[in-house]
Amino acid sequence: MSEETTMSGFSFFDMRELKARAETCAETHPTLTHAQRLSLVARRDFGLPCFVEARRLREQDIMQHVESDGDVGKCSFCHFTFRLREERAWHVTRHERLEEALHYLHHMPLVGEQLKRLMDSSWSQAQDAPTLEGRVAGYLGVFRAWYDRSIFGSMCDGTWREHPDFPMYVSMIITATDVPHDVLDRLASLYGRRPGSLRWGESRWQEVG
Ligand SMILES: [Zn+2]
Repeated sequence: MSEETTMSGFSFFDMRELKARAETCAETHPTLTHAQRLSLVARRDFGLPCFVEARRLREQDIMQHVESDGDVGKCSFCHFTFRLREERAWHVTRHERLEEALHYLHHMPLVGEQLKRLMDSSWSQAQDAPTLEGRVAGYLGVFRAWYDRSIFGSMCDGTWREHPDFPMYVSMIITATDVPHDVLDRLASLYGRRPGSLRWGESRWQEVG
């Protein structure tokens, strides 16, 4: 195997493409087993010695983000802490969902420390700003942080396609949390209200199903 192949890794989309092409080989190569078709495509279209190598590269691609500490892994990409052995498959599923979502959304929500910083500074502004405009901006910052946390969860559980956009989220959240009257009036005039879309006290959007 060339060094180039090792370096370039093997993305979620490469793997999906490889498997889709192997499926179409059912027609053109009816005498081969499914495993043989996967390896045929790996060799023919991806320059790999076999399908097992494609799987190994995919695993390596994912695990390069994981730092392990004993039995526990911590992924810097999908922000998941998990038991390396027992929760390996769960991590891969979550990690790949996030890869797929990012491919379409082109936007990584704030997470971890950055999210906390936005939340803290926005809360201060929402409470302490001397003008209504300032407090409205503070509340919008808080809602942006909640929104990012909500859509990040949806990206990891595969429901992001249905997740509301930010303006719609604001119209939902202002009817699900305590907001001072003057701020509420201003936000409602800008975004409207969608009562009942989020449960009271709930900031994480959930697909109704
Ligand atoms: Zn991950």
